[in-house]
Amino acid sequence: MRITLLMVPLFGLALSAQGPVQPDWAKVDEETMRHFQAVLRMDSTDPPGREKEVADYLQQVLEKEGIPVQVFAKEAHRPNVVARLKGNGAKRPLLLMAHTDTVNVDPAKWTHPPFGAVRDGGYVYGRGTVDDKDNVAATLMVMLMLKRLNVPLERDVIALFEAGEEGSTSIGIQFMANEHFDAIDAEFCYAEGGSVTRVGGAVKYASVQTVEKIPRAITVTARGVAGHGSVPLESNALAHLGEAVGKIATWTPPMRLNETTAAYFKRLATVSTPEEAERYRALLSPDPKISGPADDHMRKHEPRHWSMLRTSLSPTIIGGGYRTNVIPSEGTATIDTRLAPDESADEFLELVRKVVSDPQVEVTYGARDTRPPTAPMKLDSDAFKAIEANITKHYQTVTLPTMSTGATDMAFLRRKGIQCYGIGPATDSEDGPKGFGAHSDQERILESELFRFVRFNWDAVVELARAR
Ligand SMILES: [Zn+2]
Repeated sequence: MRITLLMVPLFGLALSAQGPVQPDWAKVDEETMRHFQAVLRMDSTDPPGREKEVADYLQQVLEKEGIPVQVFAKEAHRPNVVARLKGNGAKRPLLLMAHTDTVNVDPAKWTHPPFGAVRDGGYVYGRGTVDDKDNVAATLMVMLMLKRLNVPLERDVIALFEAGEEGSTSIGIQFMANEHFDAIDAEFCYAEGGSVTRVGGAVKYASVQTVEKIPRAITVTARGVAGHGSVPLESNALAHLGEAVGKIATWTPPMRLNETTAAYFKRLATVSTPEEAERYRALLSPDPKISGPADDHMRKHEPRHWSMLRTSLSPTIIGGGYRTNVIPSEGTATIDTRLAPDESADEFLELVRKVVSDPQVEVTYGARDTRPPTAPMKLDSDAFKAIEANITKHYQTVTLPTMSTGATDMAFLRRKGIQCYGIGPATDSEDGPKGFGAHSDQERILESELFRFVRFNWDAVVELARAR
């Protein structure tokens, strides 16, 4: 044992052309599963958020290994855990981020208990298996292995296990970014938000999240004269509201491509059927006669792709009126609005007002927890290159830089200048419709894919952070 410990750093240096000495993967798999099951068995559903048990566990595992840990808690029972491995300071740090909370469960919907971490048929079942305790386990294992193998680093590697991602960012990422940024400041960050998609058991492509849309809410308020329901009025507020909502929902906001989405469709075409590929390439054409029909096809058949091409609008709440025989004087609707990252919020609102074009209807932004807008991450950065090279190595597939239509905690870090990339393990595309997936009735991960994700993480971190 003593010889091994002494030899490892030497091997690490001696074999630097191929990378440092590799971990004993059979043992790593076993330990990964042990930590993964341990944190899955802790109920950290948010709300109310009970991340402390997970945080305490991670702190204890890391400290036992001699890795220094700092704990930052805005609310005592919801701590954020930061661990740091020091590099030689030649380059700025790499941050690995994973959240310790999960969404809630309806236990009646679960075949296996949601906090049982049951292994069955090659899967592990439990809330958090793909969101985000997979990243928690992978980050933990990378930190432990870097320390044990004493890998020489040219930049610090920081792990942030954050609370409150699922709806309480004020005690999680916002608290860390606003009040303890020194503890997590880095050049690059890897976090959740990407994925590897399998179809029929074979890997089809990998998504790496490099930018996201900005959530806003538009409030549509229609006003008219109140009156008796037996006497129809042209100014009926609900009729005007309905018409306005209809116009908004059927309008096609202008198409906007950015570096990420252009690369996404271009690369997606390389792993698609000839017909699909032709449409994806057509979307990139500056000629609306070519891009238009492809865009229409997306609207009908690939709504997520249609949303990736523009700022999107979905009516989600509508209300007004209280009695059958009373015409109300007011009705309101809420439109879930996802701004493209380079969209001007004010100019876009003007466009929506023109679409509605009704003096009885007011269109404004309503209150919503939002995220700061950021430009797409660089696709030629060392971090993106390390991720892409190791997707090729571990998954033998194409890497699609991806814009999320939803929002993630990475937005707060990108705003502070950290280049963040969202990654994730492979899941079967057939699993979602069966009711397994992030935020689904049930959740599961393939054991083999959890292990592959740890290997991928290890190589992507070592490649970016080790001293050469
Ligand atoms: Zn998550």
